[in-house]
Amino acid sequence: MLGWLETCRRLYNRCLRDLKTWLNSRKCPIDRCSLNEEYIVPADLPFPSYLQQKRQLTQWKKENPWLKAAHSQVTQDVVKRMHNTWEAFKKRGFGFPRFKKYGQFRSFLFPQFKNHPLQLPSWEGMGVGDYQIKLPKIGSVLIELHRPIPDGFVIKQIRVLSRARGTKWYVVITVQSDIEVPNPLPKGRGLAADVGLENFLTTSDNFTVKPGLFFRELQSRLKELQRKASRKKKGSKNWEKAQIKVAKLHHKIANSRKNFHFQVAHQLCDQGDMVFVEDIDFRVSAKGFLGKSMLDGGFGQFRTILQWVCWKRDKFFAQVDHKYSSQICPNCGTHTGKKPLSQRQHICPECNYQTTRDHAAAEVLLQRGLDKVRTDCAERKLPGNGGLSGPVADWLDKCRSRNTQERS
Ligand SMILES: [Zn+2]
Repeated sequence: MLGWLETCRRLYNRCLRDLKTWLNSRKCPIDRCSLNEEYIVPADLPFPSYLQQKRQLTQWKKENPWLKAAHSQVTQDVVKRMHNTWEAFKKRGFGFPRFKKYGQFRSFLFPQFKNHPLQLPSWEGMGVGDYQIKLPKIGSVLIELHRPIPDGFVIKQIRVLSRARGTKWYVVITVQSDIEVPNPLPKGRGLAADVGLENFLTTSDNFTVKPGLFFRELQSRLKELQRKASRKKKGSKNWEKAQIKVAKLHHKIANSRKNFHFQVAHQLCDQGDMVFVEDIDFRVSAKGFLGKSMLDGGFGQFRTILQWVCWKRDKFFAQVDHKYSSQICPNCGTHTGKKPLSQRQHICPECNYQTTRDHAAAEVLLQRGLDKVRTDCAERKLPGNGGLSGPVADWLDKCRSRNTQERS
């Protein structure tokens, strides 16, 4: 499987090389020479599109037998992957596909399956969760099945992932069914969550979650391992061993963090029926003065997980405008001006409302979230509002009665 990854990586770079050369060759006018570098590409050479390169792949395979090592659909998907990145770059304007260095290509995909690839192991004495997965051209691999494939689902594709420098392997099985699951509708009790550094999270009910303790402990262990690894001679056997140790710990930290995020997301879903969070782009704030500690929290990942957990548990999820959320008094709506980050209390000069800074921000977010739901329901952007209760429903009733009065 490591060999396949290396084959895929080289193919990916080859495709990208052709794309880049073509682009560079078209950069200067046809009757002139470039001052930097000349790319000799025939004028009528078509753009190396996905289809074009997919066709070329057959030719390449004849010239380079090493390409045949991997399954043909897997190699086709590599070409597609490069072009997906390229298309995404064209759309967003950033993130030009990059050459992958050794070890940077960490997964390959089997895009389709005819037969059910999972089977019970053919020999006895295996544990309960143990299964075999039959991968084309690789053969049967023993796996630990984390959850059974539900009935009525078809296996669409399988991605094989390598983690921690190829010492840990995962298979991600994508299943599909034609059952339609409706998106959760706004209903019931709402709550908003404000994420921060001192407390991982504060809700509008003043429920707080401390940042995961596991993290600091693992972090100091990571520092120690990194120090040890840096003393080894680069490229030596001991160096590789030390690198694997570091990679494994990184992997563990990422898993613990994810687990923590899932737990917090479920806690929030236990407490309310609508969850609102701020729409801040955490990648941007991570560049600012809070720096890396912002990324350590993985707030962006948390929001994605929260959205997924909400959907799964039929809770309404929405992102609301984050601007000035920490500068407005949730009690009277006064703009209290910018608070320095060291000021952890909110004390309103107008109405004397006192609470913690994060709680006040969460309350503001909740008000904005409910406002958003109201307007969206009134404008019928959200289908139906039958299940509404509490302030949203009251407000809608008021709206409706006002409308009828006006009409009459
Ligand atoms: Zn106030």
